[in-house]
Amino acid sequence: MKNEKKYWNPAIETLPSAQMKALQWQRLKTQLQYNYEHSEFYREEKFHKVNLTPANINTFEDFQKIPLMTKDEHRWTQEESLRRFGHPYGLTTCAPIDKIIRINSTSGTTGQPTLYTLTKNDVNVLNEMHARKYWRTGLRPGNIVLQALSLSMFTGGLPLSDGLQAMGLCVVPVGIEGGTQRVLDFTLLTRPDVFIATPSFGEYLIEQTPKLIGKEARELGIRWFYCAGEPGAGIPSLRKKLQEGFGAKVFDHTGGGHAFHGISCDVEPYPGMHFISPDHCVLELVDPETKEPVAMTDGAIGEMVFTFLDWEGGPFMRYALGDLIQIFTDPCACGWPEMRFKILGRADDMLICKGVNIYPAAIKSVVGEFVPGTTGALRIILDSPGPLVSPPLKLKIEYGHEDMTDEEKHNIVRGLTDIIRQRLRVNPQIELVRPQSLPREAGKTSLIVHEKDI
Ligand SMILES: [Zn+2]
Repeated sequence: MKNEKKYWNPAIETLPSAQMKALQWQRLKTQLQYNYEHSEFYREEKFHKVNLTPANINTFEDFQKIPLMTKDEHRWTQEESLRRFGHPYGLTTCAPIDKIIRINSTSGTTGQPTLYTLTKNDVNVLNEMHARKYWRTGLRPGNIVLQALSLSMFTGGLPLSDGLQAMGLCVVPVGIEGGTQRVLDFTLLTRPDVFIATPSFGEYLIEQTPKLIGKEARELGIRWFYCAGEPGAGIPSLRKKLQEGFGAKVFDHTGGGHAFHGISCDVEPYPGMHFISPDHCVLELVDPETKEPVAMTDGAIGEMVFTFLDWEGGPFMRYALGDLIQIFTDPCACGWPEMRFKILGRADDMLICKGVNIYPAAIKSVVGEFVPGTTGALRIILDSPGPLVSPPLKLKIEYGHEDMTDEEKHNIVRGLTDIIRQRLRVNPQIELVRPQSLPREAGKTSLIVHEKDI
């Protein structure tokens, strides 16, 4: 039957791992040569400074001698390029300016926005990545997608609309700027069967739909809910709420203006997001402290570093985004190939206990697995300023509900202690506290508190 293929691009998406590695290497060599020839900055600062040329990069270890690039450095290249060349696209821009057809951007919440510079080729790469994600999860031409995200140059805005259309889906780019009532009015008018929104907006819609239009959210006909911007499917309680609230399958997905893209599958318990763009993005992990490479083994945690392949505009090369991820290389029950990953948070939250790196987000993820025995809320208590911590690692964790017996609480502490020891290689000292007793803050709550502040 027409349109019954399982993958958008089966030849690439099911390529055996050894062949994918060979393809990556071949594209990497070509890309490094291109970057070297077309960006003076790359040539001088990233190759010559460490006595490298593309010609003497013969192994992956050689490639890893190229110095990392950070977001701050990226911002600096934008300022410097404005000064030197009169355009702000950055010193890493390799394509002629008249070939650049789109600028994507991060929202710039932590400083000057960083720009992603794309040619027609790069826009096609992005559109292909979007198509791979939505196709795998069951969307086909004929689906109507309501895009309830901020509609702008940011990566969940226009670039996403473009990708959805390129795949042949019907997009209703209603945005969120007109408010909840307008989102619901257009839902009734255009009858989408797919929502793309932040999970927090999804939760809000479940609450507001009966009040605003006199129907339950599950009566809207939504069969797929894609979480953007924040984890949704990865948080068991939230996933269940969205699944039941809309009567929909719930997926997490990531990847906007660049070549690192992933999507979760429909397996429980949540196995992370599948990395779907290995032919366009080389992924590495480094230790956030030492910046040394971390082996890409099952369960490994590190700061994500990526290098674009087959990219013309502003190709990122060993770019350290400051995000911490955990990778999983064991096969997934869904049958999709390639490694999976979970985004854990920012790398600069890391603590070090007896030489072991501890990631607060990884602890939160473990505690989340014990819901409803815990509420998922916790704090890490430090006696002195981090990142160095003396063992044991003190944790306050809320137990799940008021009528838990002492035995149930004891079992929760024992279970948590065992898993934290095994998986995170640190000895915790857990104090259970009453549900809802830890402060909730709007926005991002810090998991770390200092003893003197209690
Ligand atoms: Zn899977």
